[in-house]
Amino acid sequence: MNIILLGPPGAGKGTQAKVLVDGKGLVQLSTGDMLRAAVASGSELGREAKAVMDAGKLMPDDIMVQIISDRISEPDCENGFILDGFPRTTAQAEALDKMLGEKGLPLDHVIEISVNDSVLIDRINTRVAETPEGERRDDDNAETLKHRLEVYHEQTAPILPYYEGRSMLKKVDGMKPIDDVSKQIEAIITAG
Ligand code: AMP
Repeated sequence: MNIILLGPPGAGKGTQAKVLVDGKGLVQLSTGDMLRAAVASGSELGREAKAVMDAGKLMPDDIMVQIISDRISEPDCENGFILDGFPRTTAQAEALDKMLGEKGLPLDHVIEISVNDSVLIDRINTRVAETPEGERRDDDNAETLKHRLEVYHEQTAPILPYYEGRSMLKKVDGMKPIDDVSKQIEAIITAG
């Protein structure tokens, strides 16, 4: 089973992906985690990614498409994967369709975790107040979130009608408690 989790930054895609990893034995493919690993390794990709991520912008589509194409070809993805943070532009969504078609892989569910901007801003302010700086992501601050939300609305939200037009998009209320959101996702998956 292959799933895309869509939604704004801080909606809980990573949290829900981990629930699916534990419950369904799927692999979580978080492009943000992959880029943070590249930053930690000090590679050339990592240097580029650090500047882009700190500014709350997006990495170039061709780089991200190549990263995902390589990753979903690895054997551990055979039982199914959850895309968390990809696709983030319509160009990435189109490239994903093409690559899945070429590899003969299905796309089973596209799930939007919907959260209002004001709730995301409240969440980040709480995290900033409660978490020591060293324990937070470098891009986890109110200023960068503002840019990331603008980028989300301009470049990522247009993906929603792309999947809606294919009758693939299912929406869950991401403002409910974590367990409740997991149950909404489970119901979608169980319904097939
Ligand atoms: P995330 O952990 O998914 O919130 O991603 C953190 C940052 O990594 C984003 O703000 C982008 O700068 C970058 N990033 C992650 N995934 C993508 C993607 N699919 N396309 C472009 N940039 C990405």
